[in-house]
Amino acid sequence: MQELWGRKVLKKEINQSEQLEIASLTLPTMKELAENKIQCLRCGQIQLKFTVQLVNQCYYCPECIQLGRVDTGQQFYHLPEPDLVKRKVSFVWEGQLTIGQQQVSDELVASVKKAESRMIWAVTGAGKTEMLFKSIHYSLECGYRIGVASPRVDVCLELFPRIQAVFPDEEALLLHGKMEESYRYTKLLICTTHQLLRFYQAFDVLIIDEVDAFPFVDNPLLHYGVKQAVKPKSSLIYLTATPTEALTKKTDRNELKTSILPARYHRRVLPVPKMKWCHRWHEKIKQGISPKSFEDTIRTLISKNDVLIFCPTITLMDQLGKAVEKSFPETALASVHSQDSQRLEKVLKMRNKEYRILMTSTILERGVTFDGVSVIVLGANHTVFATSALVQIAGRVDRRKEYTAGEVWFLHDGCTKAMKEAVKQIKKMNTLGLERGLIDEV
Ligand SMILES: [Zn+2]
Repeated sequence: MQELWGRKVLKKEINQSEQLEIASLTLPTMKELAENKIQCLRCGQIQLKFTVQLVNQCYYCPECIQLGRVDTGQQFYHLPEPDLVKRKVSFVWEGQLTIGQQQVSDELVASVKKAESRMIWAVTGAGKTEMLFKSIHYSLECGYRIGVASPRVDVCLELFPRIQAVFPDEEALLLHGKMEESYRYTKLLICTTHQLLRFYQAFDVLIIDEVDAFPFVDNPLLHYGVKQAVKPKSSLIYLTATPTEALTKKTDRNELKTSILPARYHRRVLPVPKMKWCHRWHEKIKQGISPKSFEDTIRTLISKNDVLIFCPTITLMDQLGKAVEKSFPETALASVHSQDSQRLEKVLKMRNKEYRILMTSTILERGVTFDGVSVIVLGANHTVFATSALVQIAGRVDRRKEYTAGEVWFLHDGCTKAMKEAVKQIKKMNTLGLERGLIDEV
């Protein structure tokens, strides 16, 4: 029943449920609280009993129902993790860490040795994944169970082959909601944060990538899942380029050890966004007009690089798209958003330089790298552009080794706190990078 080690699952989620009676432990699915409330023990969320009562008098949890219904008529099955056994694990990596990466990698290993938590705050394009390899290797050799989780499926899909390649003889499992492969026990696991809700005291080390990204950020259900998934004595590692206020506060109060990597591997400063006034952009776009200062910016930028244009809403992007097409009839361009069925093809075409302009919703704010691009955020003062989104968007520029003089422009008609904060954060990292000798030019 290895399948149940470190898991907390319902009968219907178990592959070999006929063997269940053999020595597995059962845990309650829900807990009754005072004042007619009931708590789900998979996702931790609390409901008023009368709102979640079923016709058979059982209670269920609506919050985590997408993982299969939990109700008081069922129980969880669980087996504790086996004892740790040291072993040899082959590790194949030819790359070289920069001085900054090496330092973070060492601090991370030290934290894993002490079973303490740590945040790694590394700027966009710093090369986060390589910094994890050594601590993953150390953990596996100790016999630890280690998980790398991300809120976003595409990040998991990208991470899995990279990590697997470095540990070629290690059995690893990729786990997310859309996969068909069934669950099996492995010491190394890459999964979405939602999948953590099915684990109980499983991980000695758990790394959460993009901890500030949707849907993990501000999601009590997923945070509860993380707490349940780790062993009482374990290391929880948070990776981010744009930490939440809650995390930075913990750092400031010395409650969370933090490693900061303020520079990219190519030793150049992060491009600092430039601000430009764009009078009544919202009204103009609604009337089907593309603002003049916006078009001027495109003309300047496109002489050197391709241009990625971020729009606050899909509706505005559609209206703007038509106007831009009229103004740039000779230029290959497209627009893309989350509901676009051709999303992946379009991103690929932009990467292959088949488009010169790509308009996008915030969906491309993270996780994508294009060669030789500049970025415009049209309507940067819109509420959809939070500080973290703006820092991530600015981080799309100048990620490759070759320098192409890519620029970042925030077009707005009223500077917001988020815009100022984003610029401040980027400048702060540049200063820190220079101070620590991780950046060559000014
Ligand atoms: Zn629940």
